[in-house]
Amino acid sequence: MKALLWTGARLDTVGDIEVREPLAGEVAVRIEAAGLCHSDLKGVDGDIEQPVPVVLGHEAAGVIVARGPGVTARIGQKVVLSPLRTCGRCAACRAGRPTLCRGTSEPMQTVFSRAGEKVHQFVRIGAFARRTVVTEAQVIPVPDALPDTIAALLGCAVITGFGAVWERARVQRGESVLVIGAGGIGLNVIQAAKVAGADSVVVCDTNPRKESIARRLGATDFRVGEVAAIATAVAPNGFDAVFECVGRPELLAAGIDALAWGGRAVMVGLPPEGTNITFAMRRLFQDKAVLGCRMGSVDPHRFIPDLARRYLAGEIDLDPLVTDVVPLSQGARLVERLRAGELDRGVFDLAAGEPTGDGS
Ligand SMILES: [Zn+2]
Ligand SMILES: [Zn+2]
Repeated sequence: MKALLWTGARLDTVGDIEVREPLAGEVAVRIEAAGLCHSDLKGVDGDIEQPVPVVLGHEAAGVIVARGPGVTARIGQKVVLSPLRTCGRCAACRAGRPTLCRGTSEPMQTVFSRAGEKVHQFVRIGAFARRTVVTEAQVIPVPDALPDTIAALLGCAVITGFGAVWERARVQRGESVLVIGAGGIGLNVIQAAKVAGADSVVVCDTNPRKESIARRLGATDFRVGEVAAIATAVAPNGFDAVFECVGRPELLAAGIDALAWGGRAVMVGLPPEGTNITFAMRRLFQDKAVLGCRMGSVDPHRFIPDLARRYLAGEIDLDPLVTDVVPLSQGARLVERLRAGELDRGVFDLAAGEPTGDGS
């Protein structure tokens, strides 16, 4: 099977990856579409610890094609995949807070191999392959009418952006919002803030090319430049909610500085291990908060079907997010384009270039 593999030295589409059958509580999913997220490059760049070789990809949609004992999900069901391999039994799971489940990083039996050697699954999915195996907790049923590319994005960029705004910061009608970084997640933060009724949605990015899509999704102002200077100029009394969508300490510090009284700063991006931040403690005194946010801090089994319904009803517009759809053979090229800032979301079409009828 073809897959986009990071060997520790090379990023390449290879053709000889094996995938095992699902065991108890697991499903095999034929991946139809998978988005390329900046997080996929964090292992490659050494920002997170990632054992190699590894099949990258964690934002995907597909169809259940096989299931292990005890699984009730239907064969042929269209699903969005979630990195949250929840245990379903702990207090957090029972309380509907799966992002707090400590079981999500427990290992499961190796899914992929190459010439008899173990190959890892990036964040418990490994979506840049035609087929993967995950637990039943990791698949969220969605309607067949939902396009594969859109369904894929729901699994990471969309749920994270919308969850951060609606559930973590709980942005209210009439509030002012600052979004730092208009990448895949930042663009969803923008639209979620608009749908929440934010009065102003100010966006800072270093790439002027992002202005048109940011405005299309709901930005009321778009600025290129230093966050502190922009915040002071645009909102001298601060913003009610600030979203740091890049994962850089100086940007989060500038965001905290830009908070209004009662404001919430949300760290949406995943910073490299060991990153430290310095800010004036006194600035938090006026009922301000700094919040971490994992996968939007929401339950994907509740949130993703709701986002799918809103998309199909025309209440949210996710089509502009998809910049390009390419076959897996163009993997290395798509990565280059992401690094060059040419993509909002590049998506792999896993069915492209496959002999018809062969799902493996
Ligand atoms: Zn992601
Ligand atoms: Zn749990």
